[in-house]
Amino acid sequence: MRDEMMERMPEAEIRRRDRLETEQSGQSRRRGNQRRRRQKKGGGCREGCLSFFCGILVIAAAFFAGMGAGWYRWGRETGPKADLSSIQIPDWVQQEFIRKNIYSRPAVSLQEVNDIVVHYVANPGSTAEQNRNYFDGLADQGQEGGTSASAHFVIGLEGEIIQCVPIDEIAYASNYRNYDTISIECCHPDDTGKFTEATYQSLVRLTAWLCDAVNIDRSRVIRHYDVSGKACPLYFVEHEDAWEQFKRDVKNQ
Ligand SMILES: [Zn+2]
Repeated sequence: MRDEMMERMPEAEIRRRDRLETEQSGQSRRRGNQRRRRQKKGGGCREGCLSFFCGILVIAAAFFAGMGAGWYRWGRETGPKADLSSIQIPDWVQQEFIRKNIYSRPAVSLQEVNDIVVHYVANPGSTAEQNRNYFDGLADQGQEGGTSASAHFVIGLEGEIIQCVPIDEIAYASNYRNYDTISIECCHPDDTGKFTEATYQSLVRLTAWLCDAVNIDRSRVIRHYDVSGKACPLYFVEHEDAWEQFKRDVKNQ
């Protein structure tokens, strides 16, 4: 009995293995066919998948760009202290805007005003009109020129005030503070840089008006010197007491 079993078992085992092999080869054949079918369709699938994922990428990029901009700006914009473009310029200011150009009027929006900056033209005896025309003439420089200068206002020897650049645009006068200040250039009769009484009175009046118009305290008045250390306006740099008096006069205007 045991012998018989021993003889028959391998037979049964062989048959079982044969069956298994047949099944497995059938399966692998089927799998091979499936694989081949998949590979056949694969070329089209890859293209389809590629354009699909490209589409997803574009949508994701657009989404994140939008969200990124929002994320970047979130909490940063505090709102303007004053709407600069809506401020009415008084009739004692002559508006003679210079031409838009990269050297003196780049037409870049001034987003906020934190200080008013006082300058002197450093060209004794020159008039407000001449200084305004100088700024305007910078537009005609060639590529190799490269002088950048301007100011929002120029006050002349007779106290006349010419506005060269709108107050909602930047002017090129105060180095890195061009982006949050309004600049006033003042003419002067001689090398001392001291202003005439008429120039001085117009400067006090214009400065006080500007502070009120853009909604900053009247103490927010600085010299070009306070920005970059440049001796400008010369007289107010060399005579600190005169500068302090000027600030008091603005406050009491
Ligand atoms: Zn200056």
